[in-house]
Amino acid sequence: MADIKSGRGIQVLIPSTDHTFTLNEEALEKLLLNDEVKDLPVVVISVAGAFRKGKSFLLSFFLRYLYQTYNLKVAGGEWMGSPDEPLQGFSWRGGSERHTTGLLLWSHPFIATLENGDKVVIYLMDTQGTFDSESTVKDNATVFALSTMLSSVQIYNVSQQIEEDDLQHLQLFTDYGRLALESNTGKPFQRLQFLVRDWSYPYDHPYGAEGGQRLLEKQLSIRENQHPELQSLRRHIISCFEELRCFLMPHPGIKVATDPSFKGKLSDISDEFKQCLKEFVPMLTAPENLIVKKIAGHSVKARDLLIYMKSYMNVFSG
Ligand code: GDP
Ligand code: MG
Repeated sequence: MADIKSGRGIQVLIPSTDHTFTLNEEALEKLLLNDEVKDLPVVVISVAGAFRKGKSFLLSFFLRYLYQTYNLKVAGGEWMGSPDEPLQGFSWRGGSERHTTGLLLWSHPFIATLENGDKVVIYLMDTQGTFDSESTVKDNATVFALSTMLSSVQIYNVSQQIEEDDLQHLQLFTDYGRLALESNTGKPFQRLQFLVRDWSYPYDHPYGAEGGQRLLEKQLSIRENQHPELQSLRRHIISCFEELRCFLMPHPGIKVATDPSFKGKLSDISDEFKQCLKEFVPMLTAPENLIVKKIAGHSVKARDLLIYMKSYMNVFSG
């Protein structure tokens, strides 16, 4: 049976030195067109945001949960694993050079059964860090826009706070994607899940989903005395997504953040952080919480996703 060790992140959107991108069609066909999955509606969970803020690290926990819940089906087991096991998954590491480029999909899709009995297939997507020094704004916009267009849940990973900057970047990327979609009806994207890492004001807003929602409401609120640009930025973001959520994560502990020899052992991660992961990961990936990808109101099957990817690429390269 496929397990986490035999899986890997497959680069499906490959950047070239001249700031264009190509699709890895061969890999995508293997992932999306095989008989087991091609006719199943897809759930695509993506994580995007600045480089070196723990996105790939987070996805390792999603993988642990997904294998345990859907592939190995170990009932009642501890999905997070044993204390000394190193974390596996999308490559993540300390140091400051970039380790992931473009868009990656996990090589094993997970087949899940919804509460109504329908089968769906879940893909996990990792993205190149946005806003790091090597990339131009256009590259970032392409990667972020594509991952938003292709996902049913976009996790927007931000550090410490939801800053005005984070919102401005979001506006740029969603604008880009919205133009490409050319649809004037309804909201173009599904769920945007802000994930604030290293939240350090639990006394203002507690860790977790409720505290996150309060913070998000505050940051997105439109007030009369606000500058018109800030107001329109907020209206734009609200108009783009069917659902906006936010979750506040505590700091994972000093070893995770600074120790170069850290291998992702659970025993080196703070209890608060692990507790929050136990809430957050199933909130997005338990069978009752899965969101099927929809485009223009229709659910998207694995084989359709490939067609959409190709057509979006044409728009972006034009
Ligand atoms: P990515 O570039 O966003 O995918 O970041 P990585 O997942 O590769 O992680 C970069 C570094 O941040 C690694 O050294 C991780 O151990 C560390 N890290 C992971 N999660 C967190 C977090 O929540 N807070 C802090 N401060 N560091 C983290
Ligand atoms: Mg990464």
